[in-house]
Amino acid sequence: MCGIVGYVGPREVVPLLIAGLRRLEYRGYDSAGVAVVCDGALETRRAEGKLDRLVERLAEQPVSGSYGVAHTRWATHGKPTERNAHPVVDSKNRIAIIHNGIIENFLAIKRRLMGEGWTFATDTDTEVIANLVSSYYTGDLAAAVKRAVGELEGMYACALIGTGGTDADGHAIEEIVAVRQGTPLVLGLGKGESFLASDPAALIAHTRDVIFLDNGDIARLTRSQIEIWDRSGAAVQRPVTRLNWDPQQVEKGGYKHFMLKEIHEQPQAARDTFGGRVDFETGKIGFDALELAPDYVRSLSRIQLLACGTSWHAAHIGKFLIEEMARIPVEVDYASEYRYRDPIVDASVLVAGISQSGETIDTVWAMEAAKERGARLIALSNVPGSQATRISSGTLYTHAGPEIGVASTKAFTTQLVAFYLLALYLRQQLGREVELELLAPLAHLPQAISEA
Ligand code: GLU
Repeated sequence: MCGIVGYVGPREVVPLLIAGLRRLEYRGYDSAGVAVVCDGALETRRAEGKLDRLVERLAEQPVSGSYGVAHTRWATHGKPTERNAHPVVDSKNRIAIIHNGIIENFLAIKRRLMGEGWTFATDTDTEVIANLVSSYYTGDLAAAVKRAVGELEGMYACALIGTGGTDADGHAIEEIVAVRQGTPLVLGLGKGESFLASDPAALIAHTRDVIFLDNGDIARLTRSQIEIWDRSGAAVQRPVTRLNWDPQQVEKGGYKHFMLKEIHEQPQAARDTFGGRVDFETGKIGFDALELAPDYVRSLSRIQLLACGTSWHAAHIGKFLIEEMARIPVEVDYASEYRYRDPIVDASVLVAGISQSGETIDTVWAMEAAKERGARLIALSNVPGSQATRISSGTLYTHAGPEIGVASTKAFTTQLVAFYLLALYLRQQLGREVELELLAPLAHLPQAISEA
């Protein structure tokens, strides 16, 4: 789940942005970066991996400024590398953007912009927004963003800074332009300073007066004011909310209880689960910790899914998906029954243990029973290093994050996403085409869940 922070005001921006990102660190991410405008030029620093890597980079190559944006990325389009880290800059080096979300029609826009001579230096969908906005930018960033978002389909919360805007007296304008469609974005009001973030937790140290943007809203933040326009372009006032949150509430993101919070985290968790694993340009699917050679997949007689409880329900849907997409027969077994009978399983069977925690003891023991009989094991789990993953030859991780509510929500939905990916992956390894039409619903899924 990615994090967004922005600041414009009298304070030194970089330490403030890094402190904001730290508040969002618990969500997990694969790279981080900041962009500021310094003496009229855009400066970005980005690093793969943990926030500390970015902090080290900033110590080697310091930057300063009084406004800027920062991001922690959880890749959906393009590998989690420094090259693909945000902020992303347009090919004329005039605009830097941070983005949380997915642009579903990025490929069509990218092809069109390439035809017009725009170049692309990353594999992200975000870069099409940077170039599209830049193509409309003549000094009024908010106007360019308004025009560009009319062409975007998908879910996004973005914040942009640009060079080139001047006020009536010819002074460079210090501003951040933000837009929200589907993914969260909250603005913070200070005295002579303005903030934005994907989660109020990143703002609460500085201000408790916040504005939650509506879908389709575009905001322009300067030191002294925040202007907001709705989707139609009309100037609007959104209510200022005073957050009187205690530390527990900050942890629960303002929701009444964790389960409600986790229900609302499903779009993001689903996205995090397919993020970085699907190439939406070529249709290729791949995982970090799981590889099944084409010859091996072709040799399989069947697949057994072993699970208990919620995971067992997910496995039944997994069976339908795998059989439909890959045409390999699938059996679902209740792990606690499997281990007490004499299951028919051998080296021609791929056995997948499904367990959110990776520690469900019946599932782990059932997996071991299958392994003893010669089957190859894989795990489908949310927890790296857990037992189920350690005894397996590979793991397909769900990226649900911690689930605190007892009744499963996002852990279950991410298992379904993982099964969809697994089914498509098996199809690919069998040499069958994974049509882009099979991937488009995946890119749309976070939005569909959030509408539901
Ligand atoms: N889709 C964008 C990317 O892959 C944003 C990912 C995020 O929200 O962190 O770079």
